[in-house]
Amino acid sequence: MTRPSSLRGLPSVDKILQAFVDFPVPRPIITQTVRAVLKEFRQSNSVPAHNAVIKEVEHRLNQLRLRPIQRVLNGTGILAHTNLGRTPLASKAIEAITSVASGYSNLEYDVEQGARGGRALYLEDSLALLCGAEAATVVNNCAAALVLLLRQFATGSRTEVLISRSELIQIGGGFRIPDILAATGAKLREVGTTNKTTLQDYAQGITPNTGLILKVHQSNFFMEGFVESVPTEALAKLAHEHSLPCIEDLGSGAVISTNCHAQIEHEPTPEEVLRRGVDLVCFSGDKLFGGPQAGIIAGKREYIALLKKAPFYRALRCDKLILAALQATVDIYLEATGGERERALDQLPLVSMLRQTYEQLLLRAQRLAQSHASLPAQIYAGQGKSQIGGGTLPRSTLLSATLDIVPHAISVDELAQRLRLNVPPVIGYIAGGVYKLDLRTIFPEQESELSDALHHALAPRPEPAAS
Ligand SMILES: *Cc1c(COP(=O)(O)O)cnc(C)c1O
Repeated sequence: MTRPSSLRGLPSVDKILQAFVDFPVPRPIITQTVRAVLKEFRQSNSVPAHNAVIKEVEHRLNQLRLRPIQRVLNGTGILAHTNLGRTPLASKAIEAITSVASGYSNLEYDVEQGARGGRALYLEDSLALLCGAEAATVVNNCAAALVLLLRQFATGSRTEVLISRSELIQIGGGFRIPDILAATGAKLREVGTTNKTTLQDYAQGITPNTGLILKVHQSNFFMEGFVESVPTEALAKLAHEHSLPCIEDLGSGAVISTNCHAQIEHEPTPEEVLRRGVDLVCFSGDKLFGGPQAGIIAGKREYIALLKKAPFYRALRCDKLILAALQATVDIYLEATGGERERALDQLPLVSMLRQTYEQLLLRAQRLAQSHASLPAQIYAGQGKSQIGGGTLPRSTLLSATLDIVPHAISVDELAQRLRLNVPPVIGYIAGGVYKLDLRTIFPEQESELSDALHHALAPRPEPAAS
């Protein structure tokens, strides 16, 4: 029934396809795109020239080519940028992934016994050591850790979770603590007010149906003024007097003293929180921890054992590549002791970026500005503020050096777009009419790629033919 479109003056699918044999997109996707374009021309009753069809298909394929997950250069200065994949991994973690991915592994095999073995036991012991905990385990992400914890401890006749109204927070795009609690079947028992919650509020909120006391670190905002919260020690003591577990969701997962490495606030570490009497703590693997996406739970051995026995645990467990990367990341922390500690920690890109001083970055910005002076733009070293990102340390910004660009012939918006369309895409930001690239999040080894992108984006282009 279908007539070849060429009968109606439109070029055939095959004819158009010939123009894209070398295009780096799978063939069926090209075919689908060609069909879609031809259909639209047909529906609009226009009979375009062969070249017009080719141009439209090429335009769409170029757009498509940007969509697969790929490396980008992060000039935003946001270190753990959730939209840009949070933290880059350490070389050792990447090597571990490559090694485990390229063959078989002892994922659940006890090489010594020649028999089935436990999964990630070495990693769990290392994580426990790092967190000063009796035991630890790891799941898909921190949200999954929360779900697992709530399903375990807010269940049966004890479904209530005691939580302060000041901690019913939203994290990132639409992830709200109250929603996730409700989704697990747990019942929220809010105590206190937005700005003040006392120990007595918690004590009065405890009923025979209480399953646990949950503390959520206010990671992405802060309150000032007429505020009061309960010291963790007192909260844990209250929980234990009622034989309840006290659990803290830390989110960011800093295991080093952040304030010792940069001029930012101190972020509580899992070890500190556990020392204050909390039974279990959970945090993300890919925020300040600087590892792959994961949710780490550390604390009391008996509780960790219960979690690992839960049927739901299986649905949340990590893939072997993640386990390999996380293991390598934990090893770096554990090895980083003594006089070489700082340099050892620099193996973690996140820590290394944190530790860069403004002066170091400024030198790079000045050098880059100088080596691009011939481009048709004003290019100079500027200042910016790096942020931690990933919803952590909202008050902490780091003075940073930027490469600032004001093009002569095109707008800054046009420059931003051209750089985004580069391969690899370059993501900067615009402030006060200037295009800025924060050099804290662009690695020195990416500078030659950046340079290529700048030359390409700022090179004069032929005027688009009037149509
Ligand atoms: C970021 C964050 C989470 C979610 O962590 P994911 O690893 O992204 O699932 C949960 N709780 C807190 C307090 C957070 O900051």
